Parts: sequence; structure tokens; C-alpha cells
Amino acid sequence: MKSNNRGDKTDLVPQLNLKDFPPGVDRRAFLMRAAMIGSVAVLNGSSAAAQEQNALSVPPPQAPFLSPDLDVVKKTKGPVMTTIEEFYKVGPGPSSSHTIGPMRITYDFYQRCLKLPPDQLSKATGMKVHLFGSLSATGKGHGTERAALAGIIGKEPATVDPLFLDGLRDKPDQTFPVKLGAKTFNVSLKDVIYDAPKGDFPHPNTLTAKLMAGDSVLYEQEYYSVGGGFIEWKGYQPPKKGQPKYPYATMKELLAHAAANNLSVAQVVMANEVAVSGKSEEEIAAFVDKINNVMVAIVKSGLSMPQGVLPGPIKLKTKAGDVYKRAMDDKYEKQRGIGVVSAYALAGSEENARGHLVVTAPTGGSAGVLPALVYALGEGGRGLPKEKIRNGLLAGVAVGYLCKHNATLAAAEGGCQAEIGVASAMGAALISQAHDQPNVVIANAAESALEHHLGMTCDPVAGYVQIPCIERCAFGAVKAWTGFMIASNEIPANRRVDFDSTVSAMALTAKEMNSKYKETSEGGLAVSLVLC
Ligand code: SF4
Repeated sequence: MKSNNRGDKTDLVPQLNLKDFPPGVDRRAFLMRAAMIGSVAVLNGSSAAAQEQNALSVPPPQAPFLSPDLDVVKKTKGPVMTTIEEFYKVGPGPSSSHTIGPMRITYDFYQRCLKLPPDQLSKATGMKVHLFGSLSATGKGHGTERAALAGIIGKEPATVDPLFLDGLRDKPDQTFPVKLGAKTFNVSLKDVIYDAPKGDFPHPNTLTAKLMAGDSVLYEQEYYSVGGGFIEWKGYQPPKKGQPKYPYATMKELLAHAAANNLSVAQVVMANEVAVSGKSEEEIAAFVDKINNVMVAIVKSGLSMPQGVLPGPIKLKTKAGDVYKRAMDDKYEKQRGIGVVSAYALAGSEENARGHLVVTAPTGGSAGVLPALVYALGEGGRGLPKEKIRNGLLAGVAVGYLCKHNATLAAAEGGCQAEIGVASAMGAALISQAHDQPNVVIANAAESALEHHLGMTCDPVAGYVQIPCIERCAFGAVKAWTGFMIASNEIPANRRVDFDSTVSAMALTAKEMNSKYKETSEGGLAVSLVLC
């Protein structure tokens, strides 16, 4: 053993045997880990062996359990089959998994109950909704109970009046009649129960809905809010769909189809939408234009709101209007681009925090990002024609599909990289496609935006989708534009990181991220920020 310059007899930098790595261990992972242990040892002066011992003695972080029966888990096999109508969903904020998902679930349960035999319905006296896991841990801050109640009384997520949900918050003791066949009974917020936050659930966002006859359960269904407003239930079978014209499970495959057929990313997506959904191009275009219009309306609504305080204990002041005014002030003209994009994103995200209608793109927490870019590309800035923005939204959704297919869109599984990171990557693809950039630039822009969100944790303060979420949408939108600027100004072939590798990195990071940073409000800012 040789002495080091600190006088002890520890070999600070061991000779790594780079040939012999343990069986069953990925070589690259082994080399990187060994190198990291050596580096840490050098930095703090302890022995590499001690570092190794410490590393081995710390239990690995627990990834949340996901049942292999969930379709969202099985879908990692085969080509992307998601359709644009499944992806871009309109519903009440602030969270696709904690408000839109639960409301879609309870609305689905209400619809199922309507179809039960009359003799069963005649015994019904009430309904109960039990929230488990992350839905229970942070549901109060998201208003999950209000969204769940609205669904069981038959309100549709896409058309519910946000003022109705505001009214539930302001007057929580209200009761509402539920009419099932000839039977009518009342329900209230007391029928939505915050059940066990921790346990052995098939998914971190598990919910059970029950139709009751006194204390007996007449009919029950277990559901999962699997991220991005998508829902599944026990025994879920995905709907029958057509086969995609250009099957792809990676960006590499998508780009190969596009190159072989001389198509843009948006054209590949449109051809697959037609084949998988069975709808016409006109119908799909009309849906995308509707989403564009809703996004524009969200930004305008957010900008028009007077400065005020958002619901919840944080008492967070809104700022979209002020940031916009300053950006438009001639004194700050040079900062205008960043200022207005930030203001638009803040406007959309503040609408989400108010519990008003948003579009999952991919989620509620990230719902300020794409509307900001759509508005900035259209009437709020560049003035690009609707058709270009439609193509942008089609290219953006391909990026969202791939992230969902090969990683996750749920903060409860992957932290904020899965929400704002994916939104930003979708946004970079949107901007690039809207500017008719080559396909490789679209992929590179999305890669760049996603890469610089890797590892981002989800730590909403007090469980409210406000801090860090609202400003994070502004950063996500600006980074999307940065990704576009970098990718469209570099030689595409020089880029060393490809989109698929970055999605893999996101999936790996999601798996290894400590569960405290996955929408539980048990870590990060949610712990360090003291509200007074
Ligand atoms: S921190 Fe990110 S992932 Fe978590 S709720 Fe906020 S926006 Fe969503």
C-alpha cells in the first residue's frame, strides 16, 4: 500500500481492473460506477474501498410497484398504438393524474352504474370513492375529491364548468342528487375518502369506486390513474384498434419510415392516426384544431385574470399578467421573446392551478408549456397559419407517445422530468415542425429539451400544483425554444445524443429515483420550504 500526500496509508485512486467486471453487470454501468466511487474518494479524501462499502450498505431507492397486468406496463411491447384523442384530453386542472384521471374514472363508474339492472339499482343508497397511494398522499392539494365527486354525479371532464368545481371548494358541505334509473340518492364530498397513502397497490394512483346499499357493496370497481389523464381498471382490456401504417416504437424507427416514404414526422403521425383510429384525416385535423383553439383560449383566459391569489395555503400571487405587461414594455424589447413565452406559460399554468380547464400535454402540471408555444407560434407572436401549428401538434404528440411508450408520463413514477421534461420535448418538436425543419432537427430539438430536464424531481409544496410547477412551465416552454434554436442551428449529424437514448435515460432515472421525489410531497422543496 502506498502513502498519499495527506500522509495516511490509503490508496486514494485504486487501480481499476477494467477487464474484470462482475458477471451479469452491464460493463458501462460498472465502469462508470467504479469511476464515480474513485472520484468521490478523491474529493473527500476517504478511501475508495470505504466509499464502495458505503455505496453497498445504502439500500437502493425503491421504485414504485407497477403491476405487470397494467396495460400501461404491457404497452412497452410492440409499436406505439396511442391515438391523439387519447393523448390530448381536456379536463379540469390542476393535475392530469390527480384531477382529470380521477374525474374520468368516477364518470366512467357513473356510466357503468347507469347500465346496471333495475333491481340492483333499486337497492342503491349511495356511492363511495376511496383514494389510495399518491392520490391519497397529495390529493387534497390537487382537489382530487372535488374532481372525483363531480364525476360520480355525472359531470363530464371536458365540459364541466370550472365554476362548479370552484363552488365545491367554497361550499364543501353541498349535497348533490345522483339519479340511477328510478333511484335517486344524495352524495357529497364526505363520500370521497382519503384512504391509505401507502400500501401494496397495483399502481401508485389507485382508486376504488363503490355503489352502496346501506353498508353493503352492490357494485365495485378498482381503477388506476396511470398518468396523463389515462385510466385503466382491474381486468382492463385496451380497445380494439387498427394497425399503424408505419409501426414504430422508437424515434429511430419513426425517422426511418419518414425517410423511406419522403414524409415529415407530422405526416407519419397523421397516417398512423387514420390507420389506428379508423377516423378520416379531416376528422383528425378538426380534433387537433380544436385542441389548438382550447390551448389559445386557456392562455387568453389566464392573461385576462386580474392579479390575485391562487387557491390553497401557499397564498401564491399570480404573475402572468405582470410578466406579459413588462415584456411588452418598449424599454424591455430585447427580452420580449423570453418574456412573452414565459408569460403565456404562466397564464396557462395559473389556469391549471385555479382548477380551470386545461389540456393534458402531456399532463395537468405541465399544461402551461404547449399552450404557451402554440399561442406564441400563432396569434400571440409569429402568426403562423393554423395548418403549421396543426402539424406541430402532430409532431409533438409523437414525442409524447414515445416518452409514454418507453418511459413514463406520470410524476408518481418518474418525477417532474416525466411531466415538464416531456412537455418541453414535445414543445421543441412542435416549434421545429411548425417551422418545416427537417425530421432529424425535430428529433434533435426534442432530445435537447428532454435532456436538460433529466433527473428533475416532483416536490410540489403542500401538495399543490403551484410551487415549483407554475414557474417550471415557463422554464419548460423557454427550454423548448432553446432546444429548437440549438437543433436548427447545428449540423444535425454532429449531435452526439439521440432522442431514444435520452428517453432510456429518463426511464432509468425514473426507476432509480427515490420515491420521496415522485409526487409525494415528502422531499425537496415540499420539505425545505416552510410556509408561514
Ligand atoms: S413538480 Fe412537476 S411533476 Fe410535480 S406536480 Fe409540479 S409540475 Fe407536476
